[in-house]
Amino acid sequence: VGDSRDFDNEVESICPFCGVGCQVSLKIKDGKVKYVDGINGPANEGRLCVKGRFGFDYIHHPHRITKPLIRREDAQAKGLNVDPANPLTHFREATWEEALDVAAGGLAKLRDTQGGKSIAGFGSAKCTNEEAYLFQKLIRQGFGHNNVDHCTRLCHASSVAALIENVGSGAVTATFNEIENSDVAIVIGCNPIENHPVAATFFKQFTKRGGKLIVMDPRGVGLRRFATHMLQFRPGADVSMLNAIMNVIVEEELYDKQYIDAYTENWEAEKEHLKGFSPEAMSEICGIEPEVLRDVARLFAGANAAMIFWGMGISQHIHGTDNSRCLISLALMSGQIGRPGAGLHPLRGQNNVQGASDAGLIPMFLPDYQTVTDDGVRSAFTEVWKSGDFSAEKGLTVTEIVDDIHAGNTRGMYILGENPAMSDPDVEHARDAFAKLEHLVVQDIFVTETACFADVILPASAFYEKSGTVTNTNRQVQMGRPAVTPPGEAKQDWWIEVELAKRLGLDWGYTDPSEVFAEMKLNMKSLDNITWDRLVNEGAVTYPSLSPTDPGQAIVFGDGFPRPDGRAKFTPASVIAPDEAPDADYPMILTTGRQLEHWHTGSMTRRSKVLDAVEPEANCSLHPKTLRTMGVEPGDMIRLTTRRGSIEIMARADRAIAEDMVFLPFAFVEAAANILTNPAVDPYGKIPEFKFSAVRVEKQDSA
Ligand code: SF4
Repeated sequence: VGDSRDFDNEVESICPFCGVGCQVSLKIKDGKVKYVDGINGPANEGRLCVKGRFGFDYIHHPHRITKPLIRREDAQAKGLNVDPANPLTHFREATWEEALDVAAGGLAKLRDTQGGKSIAGFGSAKCTNEEAYLFQKLIRQGFGHNNVDHCTRLCHASSVAALIENVGSGAVTATFNEIENSDVAIVIGCNPIENHPVAATFFKQFTKRGGKLIVMDPRGVGLRRFATHMLQFRPGADVSMLNAIMNVIVEEELYDKQYIDAYTENWEAEKEHLKGFSPEAMSEICGIEPEVLRDVARLFAGANAAMIFWGMGISQHIHGTDNSRCLISLALMSGQIGRPGAGLHPLRGQNNVQGASDAGLIPMFLPDYQTVTDDGVRSAFTEVWKSGDFSAEKGLTVTEIVDDIHAGNTRGMYILGENPAMSDPDVEHARDAFAKLEHLVVQDIFVTETACFADVILPASAFYEKSGTVTNTNRQVQMGRPAVTPPGEAKQDWWIEVELAKRLGLDWGYTDPSEVFAEMKLNMKSLDNITWDRLVNEGAVTYPSLSPTDPGQAIVFGDGFPRPDGRAKFTPASVIAPDEAPDADYPMILTTGRQLEHWHTGSMTRRSKVLDAVEPEANCSLHPKTLRTMGVEPGDMIRLTTRRGSIEIMARADRAIAEDMVFLPFAFVEAAANILTNPAVDPYGKIPEFKFSAVRVEKQDSA
């Protein structure tokens, strides 16, 4: 981290971490980023959190891969046995020509001998929009199927499923900054102070202006200090609690009849369904007093303008889609969509998870959520791509691909920027699968846990080394600009994709990401009126943009929805219990998530000096009373065991955690949270239940 304020030049780009998408000014000295300032982007208005301000130096870390690597013939069996500081024990350096030939050759051989479906692809929300688009195009065009996915499957897939089903679009209906026009806001199943810190500053300011903040979460998250109501409900009881709130709105006739009549369908079925969810009956299940449920219902339904924000506490359940359906219904019945200060906002996790999803990096949708099962949609793409048809069958998701490897069908993979050997649920199962692959190509900036299983590793660019657009949680398409050059022989990701495609017989011929963006626009209406040049000049444009000079619409659906007859839909949600009930062997509840200083699997933030210094050690949090009962002091090591596995980890005391819960961050490989997590998935979004596993907690002898 620089201690001097002098620099050679400065470049404006986008923070590479969370979905807030803060705009930054990178100060460059001697070819390195010295320090970072926030600038006046539409989302951040000059603000940055600790990750954006201090977490940049991972790009200069000595672990960066600077040359293509090919697995040595005498390497040990595949596993987490590669030291990222010294990968040459398992890999040998190669020229780009050789590495690309071996990478593509292995994929082509499987395709030609075993069929296209023997290859699957994981892209990443760390990709730019152009890289994500090229990745899904490569799998679809090069292998003829849709077995391509990315980390949205582990994040907001269930929210997107519910939003597309009920409002006709998978993105937010209003930017988070719209909270400045709200008088009431619900923040449920998320912890913005740690996970979307700059968004959280707007939420805090909203309360300082007198806005009423209702926080709902099984953990007493930091925003509770600013809330008028903190509903610390029982884990997994979201649907019971939300249906009880809606029951009050129905019983007390607080709903917006005019809005419901004009803009929705299926209201009578929803109303009928909610009769069975009285606050008295649901209080027992969700652990919230009936009067509190009533207060919240009256407050929300009576607001002039109200927003609902949610995160993975809602989505990462086997009933994640039902959780989101409830939030959508709550907003619809109260008429809280499509006006200033009103709307639905799932806070997106990674800096480009919105954009990568928009760009079609998902197995059931082509770009702009156009379904792969529609012949007309597919032919529109093959016309632009100038190649034959690809499968009309929806592809496999992240966890399904892992199972497909175990079943012996998927035999080779191309993984770009994703780290499923850390991020997948029941991760030992996933690691065993990657070890079985006959050919694995990994494109990344470090030898990640996933790259340890690779046959070929292609050295890629960090975000501050590349050009490309990204789309944040607010639907703001923003321009990322290169500030420094990639180290050694590392290359831009789009270039690597183009070179691989060429060796798979696809002559794409792009010479710049702007050409990819221009192609994306041909079949993505969401990008109408947004051009590369506009993004270069303006920095950000929100979609939809209604004219070449419109900065974009912060609020959508003020006059109907992109659904039949322009009407949004109520989809009643029933209570589905979590997949694993605590029992005598596993009596507590494990929930996983992020911490302020670390991001996802830690490959970047644990290589950032400041962030790693602040949060250097794997840890989990339990209520102090729980620790006392066990005879454990904060700082002692404990053992966590679920039906999948066991880890040892340092215990912390946190009064915000319920007494029967453990909170476990997933950034630490030495105590990998996902060794423990349950791979059971939501049937619609296919998202795993990271937020609820039955766990046993034991004191270690040395404790
Ligand atoms: Fe980066 Fe998110 Fe922090 Fe903004 S809030 S600086 S985008 S990590």
